[in-house]
Amino acid sequence: MITVIKLHDKYFKPFISAKEIDDVLQRLAIEIAEDVGDEIPVFVGILNGSFMVVSDFVKKYPKPCEVTFIKLASYEGVKSTEDIQRLIGLTQDLTGRTVVILEDIIDTGNTLAEVHRIFKNEKVKSLKIATLFYKPEAYKKDFKLHYVGIEIPNKFIVGYGLDYDGLGRNLPEIYQIKETQHMTNLVLFGPPGAGKGTQADFLKEKYNLVHISTGDVFRYNIKNETALGMLAKSYMDKGELVPDQVTIDMLNAEVEKNAGANGFIFDGFPRTNAQADALDKLLDSKDSQINAMIALEVEDEVLVERLLSRGKTSGRADDADESIIRNRIAEYYNKTAILKEFYSAQNKYFGVNGIGSIEDITVRLSTVIDTL
Ligand code: 5GP
Ligand code: MG
Repeated sequence: MITVIKLHDKYFKPFISAKEIDDVLQRLAIEIAEDVGDEIPVFVGILNGSFMVVSDFVKKYPKPCEVTFIKLASYEGVKSTEDIQRLIGLTQDLTGRTVVILEDIIDTGNTLAEVHRIFKNEKVKSLKIATLFYKPEAYKKDFKLHYVGIEIPNKFIVGYGLDYDGLGRNLPEIYQIKETQHMTNLVLFGPPGAGKGTQADFLKEKYNLVHISTGDVFRYNIKNETALGMLAKSYMDKGELVPDQVTIDMLNAEVEKNAGANGFIFDGFPRTNAQADALDKLLDSKDSQINAMIALEVEDEVLVERLLSRGKTSGRADDADESIIRNRIAEYYNKTAILKEFYSAQNKYFGVNGIGSIEDITVRLSTVIDTL
C-alpha cells in the first residue's frame, strides 16, 4: 500500500522521488552550464520554495557561479493568488550580468511576472528562467521558460521546498494532493456459518481493502486501554450497551489509521438504522460512502448442517446444539432485516448465493464488487 501523508487537513500521496529530482537537476545544471559558457552566472532563487532546488542545483553546477535570493509570496493554502508581495528585493547590482532565475515551480506565472517587473530596470546582460516543475495547464503568461525540469499536471504538490500552509518543505521527495478518496466500502453480512470470514479474507487481498471487524476493534481498544476502549469498557462493566457514538469514534480511528486504503469491509457494524446513518456520516466526512451491503445467502438447513459439522471439530459449544444454532440464525434475520431495507432503499443491497465452493462464491462476490 502506498504511504499517504497528512498535512493539516489534507492527504498527499508519493509522486516524484528524490532520485528523479536529482537526475533532473543534474541534467539542468549541465544544460545551463553549456549555454552560459565562460560567464560567471548569478543564480537567483525565489524564496521560500526554491531553497532546496537552489541548494542542490548549485552543488551540481560544474563551474564558478554566484547565488542570491529574492523573496516573494503569492500562495494562500492550495491556490495561487494574483497578489504577489515583494518581501525581499534584489540586494545587489546585477548590471551586465548573466542572470538565471531558479524556480521550484511555475504555476500561473504570476510570480514570474513579478520577477520580470523586478528585472525590467536592471541592465542585466541576459535573463533566463529555469524551473524544476512546470504546470502547463495552469500557466497563463507568455514569458519564455528557458529550462524546464519536469512538466506536471495541474494538481497541488508538496515537498522538496514546497509547502502546504507551512508544512511539507522538509520532505526530500514530492507528494501530490489526494483530491477525492476513491474508496470501495462494503458492509458484509451473512448468517452464522455463511463463510463471511473466509470471503472477507479473500476480498481484502483481491481489492486491497481493510477488514474492520467491530468485535476485533473493541477487543483491540480494550486490550490496549485506549481512551475509547476504557470508555466502552465502563459501559460494558455496568452491563449497558456501548453508545453508538463510542463505537463510531473507534471506527473513525481505524479509518484514519488506514487513510491510504482502497476501502473498507465493515463486518459486525452497522446493526441498526441509527448506526447505518452514523456510518454514512463518518464516510461522508471522508468524501466517501458505503458502496454496497453484500449479504451471503445460505438456506437455513445448509447452515445448520455446516455449523453442526464445524462443531464436531471446533469444539465451540454454540456450534454443537441444533436449537441454539437455529436461534442464532433466526436472530440474524431479525436484526438484519431492517438493514436490508435501509440499503435496498439506496439500491445498495446485494444478496449473493453463498452455497458452492469457496472459489465460486468469491467469483460471485467479485462480480458484484466489479460493477460498483
Ligand atoms: P505562480 O505565481 O506561477 O502561480 O506560482 C508560483 C508559486 O506558487 C511557486 O513559487 C510556489 O511557491 C507556489 N506554488 C505553485 N504551485 C504550487 C504547488 O503545487 N504546490 C505548492 N506547495 N506551491 C505551489
Ligand atoms: Mg516559489
